[in-house]
Amino acid sequence: MRMGVSQVKRPIRWGMVGGGATSNIGYSHRSAALRDRNFELLAGAFDVDAGRGHAFGLQIGVAPDRCYATYREMFGAEAKRTDGLQAVTVATPNSSHYEITRAALEAGLHVVCEKPLCFTVAEAETLRDLARAQRRVVGVAYGYSGYQMIEQAREMVARGDLGEIRLVNLQFAHGGGSQRVETSSAAAQWRVDPRIAGPSFVLGDLGTHPIYLARTILPHLAIKRLMCARQSFVGGRAPLEDNAVALMQYDNGAFANIWCSAVNAGASHSQRLRIVGSRASLEWWDEHPNQLIYEATGEAPRVLDRAAAYLYPQALEDDRIGGGHPEGYFDAWSNLYARFAIAMEATDENDTTRLESLRYADVEAGLDGVRWVAACVRSADAGGIWVDYI
Ligand code: NAD
Repeated sequence: MRMGVSQVKRPIRWGMVGGGATSNIGYSHRSAALRDRNFELLAGAFDVDAGRGHAFGLQIGVAPDRCYATYREMFGAEAKRTDGLQAVTVATPNSSHYEITRAALEAGLHVVCEKPLCFTVAEAETLRDLARAQRRVVGVAYGYSGYQMIEQAREMVARGDLGEIRLVNLQFAHGGGSQRVETSSAAAQWRVDPRIAGPSFVLGDLGTHPIYLARTILPHLAIKRLMCARQSFVGGRAPLEDNAVALMQYDNGAFANIWCSAVNAGASHSQRLRIVGSRASLEWWDEHPNQLIYEATGEAPRVLDRAAAYLYPQALEDDRIGGGHPEGYFDAWSNLYARFAIAMEATDENDTTRLESLRYADVEAGLDGVRWVAACVRSADAGGIWVDYI
């Protein structure tokens, strides 16, 4: 059980690029990183608008001389300090992830980067190779992977509770883009601009999340090939899609399907997964993340609850308040950041044993997300054909 006890000997000296006053996701990162004192926020280039970024930094308690106008200025100045940053989070729109993550690694910093990690497989491979050469961590902000019921699902699959895995049914299909919201929201606007969003909208923005959850729960399965179709229902979004479906075949013969959408009218978030084995199935929905539905052939269906003593110990490790209270999104993100902190400290200490026993959303997960988007786009834009994945 996590009791607010730091996972590392000393909080990691941490800064942010982006995540300022106008950002959607900045607070999620700060709430997660600071919750267990695994990180201390010491510096930031919080905003593309330097003045607004400076003012915001002061508001959240960052020293005036460490509220920087640009990330390059921050990396340069912090490198000269004896108490300079050790790690940085990149929470800017997609088009700058590659450039900022690369610069951070070159400056010797650990990185947590938002998804999708970058635009192309070649860029993601460059970041992976650079992270290896610099012996730095690149974590990717797949926050949903921090839910304890995801850990429970992973352990149930590993222990054979479901039998042999046959089918994987994934979706992340919200309705937030059913209307032309980009005319009134800057964050919606860049998501449909290929220069900023990259080669996809919903595949990268939404689909990479359940794809990483499937990878977490089913680490023994690798996608072998896939086919995808993508559509743009609301005018002005093409060539990017606001809806996509894909079929995937795993190397063991199992099949998966995924539906990614921003035009699922009326749905608020709607990220769901169902994993079907030869003996039993599991179902999880991110709007009710404390429950996992377990249906086994010939048995009454069961709704497993977080924090219950019948869960596997691996799931209970991530628990924060015991049974009877709801845990949620911020708790999951804190679990994610606790793992990032352990990975960073273990990397600094060259502790390979600790690293090998740690499951976290690493640079390979980021690369996998980029590769998956690229394969989906390749398939869809060729008319929805099967394409090799590995
Ligand atoms: P946003 O448009 O709401 O905010 C972007 C922020 O970045 C703004 O504060 C902007 O001023 C700042 N910024 C832009 N360029 C900058 C630069 N060069 N230097 C410093 N600051 C800069 O975007 P958002 O919705 O918060 O998304 C940001 C990223 O987070 C995207 O990659 C998105 O895909 C990702 N995201 C992830 C999740 C998740 O669940 N992991 C959820 C939402 C968004």
